[in-house]
Amino acid sequence: MASDYRFILGPCSAETREQVLETARAIKASCGVPFIYRAGVWKPRTSPHTFQGAGEQALAWLSEVKEQFGIPVATEVATPEHVEAALKAGIDYLWIGARSSANPIVVQSICSAILDLRFKIGDLKPVFIKNPVNADAELWLGNIERLEKTGVPVIAVHRGCGHQPCWSMAHKVRLARPDIPMLLDPSHMSGDAKQVPELMKKMEELGLDGAMIEVHCDPEQAFSDAKQQIKPESLSEIIPFGVTRPLLDEFCRTHSTKHASERVSSPNDRELAWLRAEIDELDERLWDTIAARMEVSRRIGAWKKEHGVAPLQPERYKEIGERLKAKGEWALRIWEQIHEESLKQQE
Ligand code: PEP
Ligand code: MN
Repeated sequence: MASDYRFILGPCSAETREQVLETARAIKASCGVPFIYRAGVWKPRTSPHTFQGAGEQALAWLSEVKEQFGIPVATEVATPEHVEAALKAGIDYLWIGARSSANPIVVQSICSAILDLRFKIGDLKPVFIKNPVNADAELWLGNIERLEKTGVPVIAVHRGCGHQPCWSMAHKVRLARPDIPMLLDPSHMSGDAKQVPELMKKMEELGLDGAMIEVHCDPEQAFSDAKQQIKPESLSEIIPFGVTRPLLDEFCRTHSTKHASERVSSPNDRELAWLRAEIDELDERLWDTIAARMEVSRRIGAWKKEHGVAPLQPERYKEIGERLKAKGEWALRIWEQIHEESLKQQE
């Protein structure tokens, strides 16, 4: 079996035996690189009225994928019972999802189960840990440490917060732990299959080690996260060739200080790209905030017109100016321009 696993591909959830097998077959047919097959068996869904996963029976479907196609398989675990059931069923890789990652007690209980059962994890395969749903780099780092204490190799997965990347959080973790591989999850990060190709460019730009991508044989019919599943045929367009990062399984084999020290210099090579990703993200928020401000400003303009109040109120202008001076002259200069634009919008 080829062993260059940088990609974890598969549907959000295991829905039926047919869907699991058909998706695996279709990915294998269109993906030019070796991959780990993923499918959630227990789904931590926001609403109790949506599909909660097929449960334990689906572990057997994943085992079938393993046998039929010779592909290693992965699923999400959120409780010690999940860890035990998954390992007993021969699931190769486990990941901890973003909701579990937000709760240290949950992570610790999963870690304790891994510690008890880790010799069942074959040759100590890595466990993947997604960032918490909230943008908390410290919590993510803490979870990495909790997992490391079990003795298994750890791989971080940046899935963003909500449907947005959170480069500042990922950057902090990258700088604090350059020895830990980090994967990109463009599916959860965007919540939109159309955005996946563009986001995948970040993998190479930022020197990330691989990607977890949701792929479904029939995205429109998917039981969960339907909008973000890509078709297997699209994989050839988004999986880059010639990725230069160390292989994940290489990382597992050499899970040692030697490998860690080899990696230390690499994030620095990409520092400018990381900083640009951070600043682009901040700019995006800034423009959204300014656009929202313009909208409120237009409503104020309409109110003033209706009540015969002049657009510019010197008292108010002075008051805001004083407040901003405390932040620094730069804030005042920028605000003056925003205010000028607001007045135009009110005309
Ligand atoms: C998933 O991978 O299907 C999943 C639920 O992801 P996350 O924990 O990142 O939301
Ligand atoms: Mn999902």
